[in-house]
Amino acid sequence: MSELLSKNKSGWENVDDETKTNIFNFADDYMSFLNISKTEREIVSNATLLAKEKGFKSLDEYSELHPGDKVYYVNRNKNLYLAIIGQDDIEAGLNIIGAHADSPRLDLKPNPLYQNGDFAYLNTHYYGGIKKYQWITIPLSIHGVIVKENGEKINVSIGESDNEPVFVITDLLPHLAKAQQQKKLSEAIEAEKLDVVVGNIPQKEDDSSDEKDKCPDKIKENIMKLLNKKYGITEEDFISSELEVVPAFKARTLGFDESLVAAYGQDDKVCVYSSLRAILNIENPKRTAICLFSDKEEIGSMGNTGMQSHVFDTFVSELLNKLRINRPNLLDKVFCNSKMLSADVDAGVDPLYQDVNDLGNAGFIGHGIAVNKYTGAGGKYDSSDANAEYIAFIRSIFNQNNIKYQLSELGKVDAGGGGTIAYILANKGVDVIDCGIPVLSMHSPYEVTSKFDIYEAYKAYQAFFNN
Ligand code: MN
Ligand code: MN
Repeated sequence: MSELLSKNKSGWENVDDETKTNIFNFADDYMSFLNISKTEREIVSNATLLAKEKGFKSLDEYSELHPGDKVYYVNRNKNLYLAIIGQDDIEAGLNIIGAHADSPRLDLKPNPLYQNGDFAYLNTHYYGGIKKYQWITIPLSIHGVIVKENGEKINVSIGESDNEPVFVITDLLPHLAKAQQQKKLSEAIEAEKLDVVVGNIPQKEDDSSDEKDKCPDKIKENIMKLLNKKYGITEEDFISSELEVVPAFKARTLGFDESLVAAYGQDDKVCVYSSLRAILNIENPKRTAICLFSDKEEIGSMGNTGMQSHVFDTFVSELLNKLRINRPNLLDKVFCNSKMLSADVDAGVDPLYQDVNDLGNAGFIGHGIAVNKYTGAGGKYDSSDANAEYIAFIRSIFNQNNIKYQLSELGKVDAGGGGTIAYILANKGVDVIDCGIPVLSMHSPYEVTSKFDIYEAYKAYQAFFNN
């Protein structure tokens, strides 16, 4: 009788010592990668370095492509495509895994620096779906680029090492927060109060200068002087910068049993890293393998680095050109024959808040990679609903390769909802399903995943590329 019933139990129960060592080693590599890759730009540059070490070459280095060739293409430093040309005719389709490199954070506004009272602040506009109260009173770092008018680019990363300062957003003391504490959680911290403290020392009075030239904001002036010394910038240079405020926390092992990873940005860097390691381990696949890291997923995949742009189509067209087989409509045909895993994190069941889940259709931490047939909200609205035939195919790959997987929904019906990049590829004709690692505290400054699930995802993505 029991053979007729599906089982869903912790994957750790069947892990032997050797596998456990592999799982823990993989997690150590992952955490090291996270600690140097907090933004989409850092993900793209570090992933490109690893790909080059494995023999990937830039698309423009190839005049012609042949089976086994490894190609990368970087789109505006924020978006990366990796491909390995397959032995089979590419018309038979691609095996694509797509994750996203961006994570929720606080972006600096175009004119961020101001003074209020005795403090200099950086004004922010939050990026993605955050619970604002989670981002105050924690150590923050600043990452990104400032591009000067002449095109010179200054890379910024400050707040990560112990000898650098951190930044913080303050909050009201509980003693005087009687009125604030009565407010709804979503309204207690206003978006316009997510401003980061960056200084407190005023610029010394300069007696020589004219009274009318004197800046009334001496603390701001002092900070600008320090920034000019450190980065060679003026206040106007902020307008052509992209500076992201992120948690300064290090990725760490979590728990007495060391089973979990706590880190910022695991949505979706955990799928980025596991799919990256999978494609780096592939040689001469049967079908052409593509691993892509998109940008702007957290704000709707818009813009020329988001999945909705046509840059990915152009990249695949270029592969067809360099294989010397392109012709009208071939791109559409290739997409219609392609298969994809949309590698994005799943909402893991949190026992403290499990009433938002239907526990018979939920992703559990430590139970393996989670497959979402559909996401969406309110009657599957806005979701790409994977076809049963395709799920049967994916299931057979996972079962043949001993991958522990679970089928889940994003919470109870009508509890909320969300989306991924899956529908964008589905619209091109690709067979696609969401398939990623369950996370606790998603979109918070310190998200939690299971080392078992991360390793299982890595194995699952590798098996997919090999089929
Ligand atoms: Mn995501
Ligand atoms: Mn997300």
